[in-house]
Amino acid sequence: METMANTFTVEKAKTSKIHDVDFNNLSFGSTYTDHMLICDYVNGEWKAPKIIPYQPLSLDPSAKIFHYGQSIFEGMKAYKDENGQAWLFRPLENFKRLNKSAKRLAIPELPEAYFMEGLNTLLQLESDWIPQKPGSSLYIRPFILASGTGFHASPADEYKFIIACAPSGAYFSGKVKVLIEENYSRAANGGVGYAKAGGNYAGQFYPTQLAVDKGYQQVIWTDDNTHEYIEEAGAMNIFVRINDTLITGPTSDRILDGITRKSILDIAKDEGIATEVRKISVSEVVEAANNGTLKEMFGAGTAAVVSPIAGFGYKDKDYDLPELTNSYASKLKQRITDIQYNRAEDKFGWRFKVQ
Ligand SMILES: *Cc1c(COP(=O)(O)O)cnc(C)c1O
Repeated sequence: METMANTFTVEKAKTSKIHDVDFNNLSFGSTYTDHMLICDYVNGEWKAPKIIPYQPLSLDPSAKIFHYGQSIFEGMKAYKDENGQAWLFRPLENFKRLNKSAKRLAIPELPEAYFMEGLNTLLQLESDWIPQKPGSSLYIRPFILASGTGFHASPADEYKFIIACAPSGAYFSGKVKVLIEENYSRAANGGVGYAKAGGNYAGQFYPTQLAVDKGYQQVIWTDDNTHEYIEEAGAMNIFVRINDTLITGPTSDRILDGITRKSILDIAKDEGIATEVRKISVSEVVEAANNGTLKEMFGAGTAAVVSPIAGFGYKDKDYDLPELTNSYASKLKQRITDIQYNRAEDKFGWRFKVQ
């Protein structure tokens, strides 16, 4: 890993906003910390990152981000343990995925040290902002946008890599009713579904709003070709439990390679739960709901960790899932969060100490 100890500059905020924040009533991702990391790509290279006071950006109206949506992001969290030590969860996976997204969007890849050391330095500075209350964490949003200018539809020649942080309470943890999508698609073969590209989410808002208008909270995306296979739950990976087997779809061009998804698969195997990674057809899920073998469905992602599904709608019919006392969802969420908050042994080597 290249090191950048000598090139790193930190400009501290004159005053802190931390005393204005009610840490007992945090929503998700809407209050920001005192500082941000910013790193410019100019003249064909990423310049050394700087940490500066959190502030608005100034961009030319012709910046390509506004016209061609050349932007990517990551979502991660910092957790504080009982002793006040801060931890990250598998941060190198986020770095690798950021560069995977970058490549697909014709954005220059970022050096590992800029991401890892930059993140570590920023988190040390913002340590007081990492909430300690159970379920709370510091949500971290690394992203890259095309700041280079021109109305010509081509990749920008300048970019900004930024890391912003938001102290956050536990993500919405109630059970959701979901609609299995029959018309719209989130992603297609050969497309950008596997990348965390901004436009992927813009494209989800309208179909999701239609589902919300019908009384559902979220859309279950199906494959774009046949709409016969379930692929993701909103912006989360999806798991289905039929009898006692936990099933999730294989990652592909269309299914994002979630860090929570692969961690859950490893933990489930460690728990002795039978797992299968294979295509899941809508007809199989409907049949399992009808004959009582569909025990659970849940979404998996960094923000909510595990988001249990109460029932689903498909072709104008609603199906309810049973209320389980010892669900896989709650057991797996407990195990993964115990590792994240340093409450349990980390046999997989996933924790990363902020220091
Ligand atoms: C971010 C994301 C996920 C979850 O990924 P994690 O690494 O677990 O946070 C799943 N699906 C989509 C579409 C996503 O954007």
